[in-house]
This record gives sequence, C-alpha cells and structure tokens, in this order.
Amino acid sequence: MHTSKLVNQLAPSATIAAAAKARELRSKGVNVLEFTLGEPDFTTPVHICDAAKAAMDAGHTHYTPATGIPALKAAICAAFERDHGVKYTPAEVTISNGAKHAIHNVLAACCEPGDEVIIPTPYWVSYSALVELVGAIPVLVDTTEESGFCMTADQFRNAITDKTRMLMLNSPSNPTGAVYPVDALEALAKVAVEKDITVLSDEIYGKLIYEGYTFRSFASFGDEVKARTIIVDGVSKAYAMTGWRIGWTLAPANVSKAIDTLQSQETSNPCSISQYAAVEALNGDQNCINEMLVHFQERRDYVLGRLRAMPGLTFADPGGAFYAFFNVSSHFGRELPGGVTVDNASDFCTALLEHAHVALVTGDAFGAPGYVRLSFATDMDTITAGLDALEKFLTT
Ligand code: PMP
Ligand code: GLU
Repeated sequence: MHTSKLVNQLAPSATIAAAAKARELRSKGVNVLEFTLGEPDFTTPVHICDAAKAAMDAGHTHYTPATGIPALKAAICAAFERDHGVKYTPAEVTISNGAKHAIHNVLAACCEPGDEVIIPTPYWVSYSALVELVGAIPVLVDTTEESGFCMTADQFRNAITDKTRMLMLNSPSNPTGAVYPVDALEALAKVAVEKDITVLSDEIYGKLIYEGYTFRSFASFGDEVKARTIIVDGVSKAYAMTGWRIGWTLAPANVSKAIDTLQSQETSNPCSISQYAAVEALNGDQNCINEMLVHFQERRDYVLGRLRAMPGLTFADPGGAFYAFFNVSSHFGRELPGGVTVDNASDFCTALLEHAHVALVTGDAFGAPGYVRLSFATDMDTITAGLDALEKFLTT
C-alpha cells in the first residue's frame, strides 16, 4: 500500500529507537545498562496520582473541551505568573498530548511550506523532523562546546533571511543541558524583536536547574518579546509524568486560536484524567520537584566527575536537564574492545552496546557528530555500573 513521501523521508526518533534496541537486547537476557531515554526514573508523586484517582471516581472520564479544562488552564497561568512574573490568560493556553504534540501544533499553526525555521545545534532529535513534517525548512546553526552550546545573537542575526519564520530555542537544552545566560537570552530577544521573528521557547526542563545556574523564561523580557514568543512546557519532566501525556503552549491569542482549531480537528482533548492530575501537579506542593532535583544534582556531579577522569572525553558542564553530552571522537580510529575500530559516534554507540552493554544515544541524531548523550535520569547503581563499564571500554 502507498505511504506518503512526507512520512517516508522521516527517520524514526533516534532516542526512542535507541531505547527499543536496548530493550530488545535485555529481552534476550543481556544486562543492559540503559542511559537512552530522557525520562525521570521516579514514579509520579503520590498526591498527583491521588488526584487522578479522585478524577476517575468523580466521573471525569469523558471528553473535555478540546483544548483542555478551565481548571488546568487557570493553574498553568497561575504557575507561570508565580514562577516568572508574567501574566497569561486562559485564552492564550492550549493543552495538548505532551510537549512534543504542542511543538507540532505550533509549527503546523504558524509555518507555511518553504518557511525557514532556525534551530541551533545540538538540538533535540524531533525538532528538525517536526519542522520538515509541515513542509518548512530547518536551518541549522552550529554552536560549539567552547561557547557552552549557546547560539550568539550575531549567529542568530546572520541566519535570518526573508524566509525566516521562527527560531526554536531550548534552554535548558536536550541534549547538552546548556542553560542560556540571561544576557545571552536578552540579546537573542532583541534580535527577535528587531527582525520580527517568532521564538518557540521550549522550557520543558526549566525547573530542572543545577546549583550556580539561573533560568529565565523567554517571555519575561517585556511585552514586545512576549508578543513574539510561544512557550512550550509540560508536566513530563519536572513532575515525572512522561506517561500522562500533558503539555501545553502559551501563545498570543490569535496563535492560540489557530492551535485550538487545529487540535479540535486533529486529536480533540488530551486525556481527561491526566488533566486533573496536572492541575494537582501545578497547584499542589512543589516540594516534590526539589526532592527529585537533589537526586539529579547528585547524579550529575558524580557523572561529570567520572567523565572528567576518563581519557579523551570533552564536554561542557550541563546547567540543567538530565543529560551529559560528551565528545568521544578521540577514540575514533583506535582498536576498541571486541577488536572493532569506529569512525563515528553511531558506530561507537553500537560497539559500546555490544561489547560493554552500555546504551547511549549517538550525537549524530542531535546534529552533533562525534558526541554521545547519556541520560542520568536513572538510579545511582545503574549509573555507577554504567560508568565503570564505559571506563573499562575506553581504557582497554
Ligand atoms: N522538548 C524537549 C526538549 C524534550 O526533551 C522532550 C522530551 N520528550 C519534549 C519536548 C517532549 O516532551 P513530552 O514527553 O511532554 O512530549
Ligand atoms: N525527550 C526524551 C529524550 O530525548 C524522550 C524521548 C523522545 O520523545 O525523544 O530521550
């Protein structure tokens, strides 16, 4: 049967594919040390699960308004004002089936075929795929480890053409963990206003920030910036709720209206029960985030200390999220355990999985050849064993 050109040119999500490969090996009895998927290992906090149970008991098991229940829209606006001092109204909120869906909504609602969307590299795997899916063109702007993987205002300005529709920004970043300094963000914001470019600011890791780093929402640089900003966020990462599939956009009212129409035709509402759980996540005790963050900080510090002690690896310290992103290219061309020699990060990951049973994701998928991503959203025993195995692999 025919399948469309548009979908045929899509590669499967590399993060999801890497996790599936690790799972397959594990099903054959291999003890795989898994660092692929960016998803918190913690279970969703009890008070949030209780709110979902209460919602079911109260009969909230039907369709909701297509773009989400008023209580969740109100909770999102209140949380944004509490955290960032910026007011949004419920008409500017659309609740979707996870942040990934929210990003697709934004691109489909805002881009014409042939429009250019600027994406700083390294970028999350799905960004370029989602841009291409709406017929727009990803324009990749390379950042470097030396610059902390942050795009400068000059790089942004130089990438703008008369076809540029949007910049996709992700701070803290998946895969690098880079947190843009406030002045760097402000400089980007000035260019966005001057050139009238829409900025999709994916702030899904905004609550997972490490000691010494500061998060600033892109919408907080004044009305002119806010008018050009679309915030994407959700409960997946901060509240360990990946499976509940709740994300959202905060956007100028006309964009929200366009997204609302699209969603009403495409998916209708996100899961009713998950929406009630998300209300509790945002309105309830926020201490659960800090409790998880203590563990993430400990794991981050441990992982960075171990990587620093291994031969030939380089990286920029992550300021947020839960990824270590490091360059392994100094190991290309030399004989690795198993007698293999590799010359790219994808083959490095394959060799590491086969001969050390450690599963990472190749940087090639993030537009960063030579790098690999390790998600430390897993327990310390796995992290310790995984780093022992990686070290042995690199030093044998
Ligand atoms: N943006 C980034 C940068 C992510 O890493 C993820 C992780 N999946 C998402 C969006 C999507 O989140 P969700 O699981 O809510 O769709
Ligand atoms: N965002 C996570 C990751 O990068 C989840 C998987 C995905 O949706 O790509 O691993």
